Amino acid sequence: MQKVEHIGIAVKDLAQSIPLFEKLLNTTCYKTEVVTSEQVTTAFFRQGETKIELLESIDPQGVIARYIEKKGEGIHHIAFAVDDIEAEMKRLQAEGFTLLNETPKPGADNKLVCFLHPKGTNSVLVELCMEKKM
Ligand code: ZN
Repeated sequence: MQKVEHIGIAVKDLAQSIPLFEKLLNTTCYKTEVVTSEQVTTAFFRQGETKIELLESIDPQGVIARYIEKKGEGIHHIAFAVDDIEAEMKRLQAEGFTLLNETPKPGADNKLVCFLHPKGTNSVLVELCMEKKM
């Protein structure tokens, strides 16, 4: 695994949280993107080497909506950049971690992603992400 690529934060309302994070980080949101497979709208901020990804559910039954219902808004996941996502998935599986998806799936920001089950990672939802090759 390489650097922390981004930190995902679950929010109820991007219209409120985008200006809030623009003020907090003193930068502008450079991209919003709907990820249908995850039922979310994402908003991205660059902060040095790392990004902040805000996530708002587009579906009241979606994973982010259910997460906020249970735990409230806040840090949802940490994403690490990887060079070879399939190799890293195999390595982690061999180490006994549980993957939430068996094959890499398309994520926001031109990435292939895989999540690890938080029950095996001290309740931290970990995302692996790899830049899609052009
Ligand atoms: Zn993410």
